[in-house]
Amino acid sequence: MNAIGIDVGGTKCLGVLVDSDANILAWVRKPTPSTEGLIDTLQEIVQELGAAPTIGIGLPGLITPGGVMQAAPNLKNVVELPVATELEKRCGQKVHVENDATSATYAEWKFGAARGATDAAFVGLGTGIGAGFVAGGCLQRGAHGYAGEIGHMVVQVDGLECVCGLRGCWERYASGWALGNFAGGVAGEIVAQRAADGDAKMIEVVDVFSKWVAIGLANLANIIDPEVIVIGGGVIESSAVFMPVVQKWFGRLLYSAQSRTHPRLESAQLGERAGAIGAALLGASM
Ligand SMILES: [Zn+2]
Repeated sequence: MNAIGIDVGGTKCLGVLVDSDANILAWVRKPTPSTEGLIDTLQEIVQELGAAPTIGIGLPGLITPGGVMQAAPNLKNVVELPVATELEKRCGQKVHVENDATSATYAEWKFGAARGATDAAFVGLGTGIGAGFVAGGCLQRGAHGYAGEIGHMVVQVDGLECVCGLRGCWERYASGWALGNFAGGVAGEIVAQRAADGDAKMIEVVDVFSKWVAIGLANLANIIDPEVIVIGGGVIESSAVFMPVVQKWFGRLLYSAQSRTHPRLESAQLGERAGAIGAALLGASM
């Protein structure tokens, strides 16, 4: 059965129409509007994708099981926005709403790099850090829908100010934004290219950044002990430069590293489409 899924990002919304094997039959991309216009944009995307029995939405931030977006640091002025209810009124059908990283986790678990794992985690290093995990063969949402917000795990006391209002959050040190920050504004692709070409300064940037990534991954592995951690996010996932360095630091920072089985670190397979595909699949599974 076909399903519609929409991933709402900080700058763009990606909508897909997928079949039950997660093949993309159609897609629509639109800029993310101000919060006031969000429901309008979601409705337009649904209409452009055509009819489907189910609709799933992946949203950034804290999402309740009832589909209310309570807070979203990367979207302006979000306070208690009942996305599921409002879109249901417009579309006349049930709408299922999830956290965007939870949606991406589900897609990578069902059809991507974590396929077949009973215990797995997904960490997406974008503007911020989105994450989710599967434990004992079940996607984990937590008691209130907030599980996986490890981007806001404090890793540096009184560190860099975060968009969430705290200081020293992991995403200030290990996101795509952080990579650009360490590189003095040089874009991630350029950092990777120059490091591959032997530029000593950029090799150092890759090492510092990868160590921060590994710190959070080791913390995560110590908490949930997954078989595999899937790492997503543009540059990091597509470049061969970062993963070996992250792997090196991860192997050193993991608790009792010499005498344990290590989780596998894998690059994400579904890329930027993972959130939308996962939202569609989760909507269809409800
Ligand atoms: Zn934060």
